[in-house]
Amino acid sequence: MKKKNQQEKIAKERIECLFELADKHFKTNPSLSKRYVTLARKISTRTNTRIPAKFKIKFCKDCSNYLVPGINQRVRTKQGKIVRTCLICNKSKRKPFNRAS
Ligand SMILES: [Zn+2]
Repeated sequence: MKKKNQQEKIAKERIECLFELADKHFKTNPSLSKRYVTLARKISTRTNTRIPAKFKIKFCKDCSNYLVPGINQRVRTKQGKIVRTCLICNKSKRKPFNRAS
């Protein structure tokens, strides 16, 4: 079991690193960012490691493109839900958000 934890830790680090790279290259090379996202997702499925929530909102589940709000992602709130639309494939995701008040 210890070995599995180690593997998961490495996978998580690699996923983080890939998303950092995707972010870094997005401005100059969005297709490269897409490749990094694809790779991160592959690692995630192969190793059964979850992609952290903070990264989950940064890519499109349908086309794997790295998403940046205002550039290729539209973020709207509607009836207490956050609607994120990928402007590349036009798929949208709804998520209820926690209201602090
Ligand atoms: Zn998409």
